[in-house]
Amino acid sequence: MNITNISEKTSHYMSLEEKYGAHNYHPLPVVLEKGDGVFVFDVDGKRYYDFLSGYSAVNQGHCHPKIINAMIEQSKRLTLTSRAFYNNQLGVYEKYITAYFGYDKVLPMNTGVEGGETAIKLARRWAYTKKGIEENKAVIVFAEGNFWGRTMAAISASTDPSSYKGFGPFMPGFITIPYNNINAVEKAFQQDKNIAAFMLEPIQGEAGVVVPDEGYLKAVRELCTKYNVLFIADEIQTGLARTGKMLACDHENVRPDILILGKALSGGTMPVSAVLCDDDIMMNIKPGEHGSTYGGNPLACAVAITALQVLKDENMAENAIIMGNLLREEIAKLNSPFIKIIRGKGLLNAIVIEHKNPDASWELCLALKENGLLAKPTHGDKIRFAPPLIINKEQILEAVSIIDKSLKILE
Ligand code: PLP
Repeated sequence: MNITNISEKTSHYMSLEEKYGAHNYHPLPVVLEKGDGVFVFDVDGKRYYDFLSGYSAVNQGHCHPKIINAMIEQSKRLTLTSRAFYNNQLGVYEKYITAYFGYDKVLPMNTGVEGGETAIKLARRWAYTKKGIEENKAVIVFAEGNFWGRTMAAISASTDPSSYKGFGPFMPGFITIPYNNINAVEKAFQQDKNIAAFMLEPIQGEAGVVVPDEGYLKAVRELCTKYNVLFIADEIQTGLARTGKMLACDHENVRPDILILGKALSGGTMPVSAVLCDDDIMMNIKPGEHGSTYGGNPLACAVAITALQVLKDENMAENAIIMGNLLREEIAKLNSPFIKIIRGKGLLNAIVIEHKNPDASWELCLALKENGLLAKPTHGDKIRFAPPLIINKEQILEAVSIIDKSLKILE
């Protein structure tokens, strides 16, 4: 399919990015200028369903009025103090979020990957001060297929060559084991006494929404407890009602030792991440040993409280379950020979495309765009369907009819 339906305005903005920006992304040819709830609008005023939601950062819907209002009000008063001084928002936010998730303390950061880095530092420090591992010997375990960002530590944990190749040397003290394989977890824990933590996505997002078997998270929790290994849950993509529970770990009633949140913690307005754990882990880091200029800024705190509040007030987790079930059922009913797998939980879903053309998923996404729905392929043959959690039944049905119509392009 050639992409002829591109307006002059669109190609103008695309060429600016092409000429002046690094080429580290390969976006769909659409230029957005406005968002409202489940919809985004391009520079020509065309409306699209947003089925990516900023990689699950926009769970509450684009420009949620309460979040935007909190942002405007706080930004008129005070936006940044640094942590050299106290501010009247941070403590209030810390109290709110720790009660919300049931942990003693929170460490506020900005991007998701900083949350991951922070969790690893906390785990290493705990290993040396509490577990008794010899300094510089701590090992962190990750699952194959993990994705937690683009820093040197994150890519050192990656098993995806497009993430790490050509960027070495890498961070020592990291090992990977197969995902969704509980025997591999126990074997790793038995083989190495220096394991500090197992850092895990409860559902692997970037890998293509890979949902582990029921019972896996519970078994991981039990093994972590048995071997005195910290369970770090990276809920940056799966958390905050995306999968139909406030946390994906809640599906198995599992409580991680360290919880990392990001993305939708600000409802897609600004980078806000958080690492939560109890005092036994958090209090090993002392003043001056970790931090961030913007971490815990009053603007982020005010925004995050509201972003968390609206998730509960508007029952977004419950809606994610109902709409997610409907979405998967309706896609299944299409009976498309090109959809090999439909999987997911709540509104974190993916389809796996089967087609002789290796570019079929990209072409399907172009067709979806033409027909008014935005989604992006990941790892070649997978397309994530993750709309904002405020989507309703009528909108799901319209979106599925767009998917149906677009699949014709593959015939
Ligand atoms: N962890 C998970 C599970 C993610 O999906 C991502 C981003 O997609 C990150 C961490 C990194 O977040 P950020 O891009 O905000 O650094």
